[in-house]
Amino acid sequence: SSYHKLLEENRLLYNQVQDLKGAIRVYCRVRPFLPGQSNGPSTVDYIGENGDMMIVNPLKHGKDARRVFSFNKVFGTSVTQEQIYADTQSLIRSVLDGYNVCIFAYGQTGSGKTYTMSGPDLTTEETWGVNYRALRDLFHISKERAGSIKYEVFVQMIEIYNEQVRDLLVSDGSNRRLDIRNTSQLNGINVPDAFLVPVTCTQDVLDLMRIGQKNRAVGATALNERSSRSHSVLTVHVRGRELVSNSILRGCLHLVDLAGSERVDKSEAVGERLKEAQHINRSLSALGDVISALAQKSPHIPYRNSKLTQVLQDSLGGHAKTLMFVHINPELNAIGETLSTLKFAERVSSIELGAAQSNK
Ligand code: ADP
Repeated sequence: SSYHKLLEENRLLYNQVQDLKGAIRVYCRVRPFLPGQSNGPSTVDYIGENGDMMIVNPLKHGKDARRVFSFNKVFGTSVTQEQIYADTQSLIRSVLDGYNVCIFAYGQTGSGKTYTMSGPDLTTEETWGVNYRALRDLFHISKERAGSIKYEVFVQMIEIYNEQVRDLLVSDGSNRRLDIRNTSQLNGINVPDAFLVPVTCTQDVLDLMRIGQKNRAVGATALNERSSRSHSVLTVHVRGRELVSNSILRGCLHLVDLAGSERVDKSEAVGERLKEAQHINRSLSALGDVISALAQKSPHIPYRNSKLTQVLQDSLGGHAKTLMFVHINPELNAIGETLSTLKFAERVSSIELGAAQSNK
């Protein structure tokens, strides 16, 4: 049928692109319909085994209605939290080997970013999201290696809201504003001048994340509203000393919950809401611009166009590894956002990031 032909053509193209791929991976996750919602039809018509998916646009007819997208993986609605995380463990190992790793959650508000990163229920490990599984493995692997490498781990947590960076871990809850030009040196790495807390186990980090979430609410009229309009960045810095050679390795893991990617209707948004929307659009497209400039080996990488890309500068490009989970809400009325999310994801995925700046 026509759509199998489309899928096949797309796969050929995709395989060519795959060969070029460096260290950016894009995984797409489709959220199920929620209790109380209609049960479809879904805009996701088909999910293939090789990371491709077919989207049906209810507003179009005939050939124009279908569009195929390809990523490293596409996860359907019945995929478990454990399966979502399965391939991420190798990235966590890389952090302990001395790489910088960014894991992003991208998608419109309500598409499942928090579900993927945190999970719906922290009391059962089975539903834990990527953040908790990553931290658990980080400490687990570092203990396994304790006989040969001694690791120290530090955590920072910041929020970027309207292009202002705030420290979420200040103990007095005052939401200290940061000037990220004042970076401090942590074991030779430039880090934003945010509170840096030594940690020794997963529970330490969970406690800090709780404080961070609480501080995130300070000054916000409604927590949900605010948290979907800001980016939060949890950074785990790792320093390892090899016991035999005494050499030092450094790595870091950024867990980035991006602001909702939805575009705000220009005719409706005014005042604060319009300002927020403009800041979010600008920083998300700056992120896309940086990744694509890296891919094209552009002599100028526009890190300075947003606070988000400035903060992550050392971890985008070079030897850094990036994983982006993009989230899809399958409802018909989300089709506009779904297509724009998938186009963004396509733009950051069909490229070579790892080798782009690497000259080592
Ligand atoms: P976002 O963080 O993108 O705003 P959420 O993670 O809060 O979205 O998800 C919105 C709603 O959908 C929540 O009620 C969440 O529990 C539910 N949800 C999201 N993803 C899934 C999933 N994979 N399986 C079951 N429920 C999900």
